Amino acid sequence: VAASAAALPGLIPDLDWVTDTSRVARLSQDFAWFSPVLKRQLADKSADIAVRPRTEDELRRVVAACAAANVPITIRGSGTGNYGQAIPLHGGVVLDMSGYNGFCWARNGVGRAQAGIRLAQFDEYARKSGLELRWLPSTFRSATLGGLFGGGFGGAGSITYGPLAAPGNVLGIKVMTVEAEPRILELRGADAMLLHHAYGTNGIVLEVEVALAPVQSWMECVAVFDGFDEAVDFAAAVASGPGMIKKEICLLAAPIPSYMTALADHLPDGCHAVLLVLAESSEPGMLGLLDAFGGRITYRKSAEDVIESRKTLIEFTWNHTTLHAMKIDKSLTYIQSAFDPTRYVQQIKDIHRELDGEVLMHLEFLRTKEGAINCSGLQLIRFSTEERLQELMQMHRDRGVHINNPHVYVVEDGKQGKPNPAVLAKKADFDPQGLLNPGKLRAWEQRATLLAEGAI
Ligand code: FAD
Repeated sequence: VAASAAALPGLIPDLDWVTDTSRVARLSQDFAWFSPVLKRQLADKSADIAVRPRTEDELRRVVAACAAANVPITIRGSGTGNYGQAIPLHGGVVLDMSGYNGFCWARNGVGRAQAGIRLAQFDEYARKSGLELRWLPSTFRSATLGGLFGGGFGGAGSITYGPLAAPGNVLGIKVMTVEAEPRILELRGADAMLLHHAYGTNGIVLEVEVALAPVQSWMECVAVFDGFDEAVDFAAAVASGPGMIKKEICLLAAPIPSYMTALADHLPDGCHAVLLVLAESSEPGMLGLLDAFGGRITYRKSAEDVIESRKTLIEFTWNHTTLHAMKIDKSLTYIQSAFDPTRYVQQIKDIHRELDGEVLMHLEFLRTKEGAINCSGLQLIRFSTEERLQELMQMHRDRGVHINNPHVYVVEDGKQGKPNPAVLAKKADFDPQGLLNPGKLRAWEQRATLLAEGAI
């Protein structure tokens, strides 16, 4: 593979190739180091070469050459994924999509752009039409639209609109196949979603069309509490209160607020903090609940202040919480869990009481794909051994909490759970030689065995 990959720039010399070994190694990394398990497993994995196409024609020529020479392709947006999704296991080419970043249009509550556009940039364009993205991962400044679709979940905004995967959020995609003569296809609705969270294993996404939200004046504040249970009850009440328009509700149990050093002036020692992004018109409703649950506001920025300062609390939520905490305490790692929407508040309180000290509660309130209010836990873990980490995840499962394991790089081992024949069928059609991100889709790697077992 290395030799055929190295020959590519000679075949298509007018493209933006990266051959310098250390730059290629950097472009072969993402945030898998969040996990001590992935850090060990993926150390030293690198592509042989990288390329940054800027047009559909450039993309088509690279892909055709890779197909002809049987060179693996790992697609990269900005490399902010944290499960090693964008790390090539078998060398080949990193297809850096960041140069393919045009905004197409926004109208009638819908927007469309090329996959390499940064989400912040997309939002800026959409705002000109009075619209905004329904979800912003906390990495919105650098993460790309294609990367969010290929490897992400949701983020700020998911409390109203659920994850990307909720029907009606992503409307369509344009895809390029990996063949000697690449085809370009438009997939709509559920068909498009067969490429969502598939880590770029079953097609190259060129454009994504998404439903948008009306622009709001988003104010931001931090509410602090002495008691954990009161903080959870308050956050849950805001989350489920139908009269309040909200974008983000994040709960950080003590001592997590102490890791958010940039907010230190607003986070008293030992507090449990709730970070909120709300429509300004919803602030009085939230303050009424705050009073009822005995909390107080220590930080408040109007929508205008937020825009002027170009700073947002969103960059302390979701996996930015993990990032800030790991900067202060290198022994920390994290898990991802989905509670049971019918009893999530009780599950959270019970697990907090039982495991506090080793499992630090970080909760992101959201609506599930089906519309129920729930929490995604991004609990911080004081890491001791890989065995103990597995044990802690099992303890959650035993208590009826679903674990989306962030310490695995195979599609099916994370959120998807089991091989999906429809995802596999897309790969067979769009990537018949198996060149896209090889090693990440179990259904493809083990298709003969799985077929024989009747598992797919
Ligand atoms: P990459 O990491 O480059 O790629 C992600 C996956 O998608 C890879 O498998 C890649 O091969 C594939 N891919 C990329 N582009 C394409 C394409 N055009 N066609 C097909 N496949 C493609 N995620 C959330 O959902 N919500 C959060 O709030 C959030 N917060 C985070 C905070 C931190 C600090 C970190 C490190 C990560 C966080 N993430 C979050 C994960 C990640 O940032 C997001 O999912 C992000 O949207 C990924 O975008 P990216 O451009 O960096 O993708």
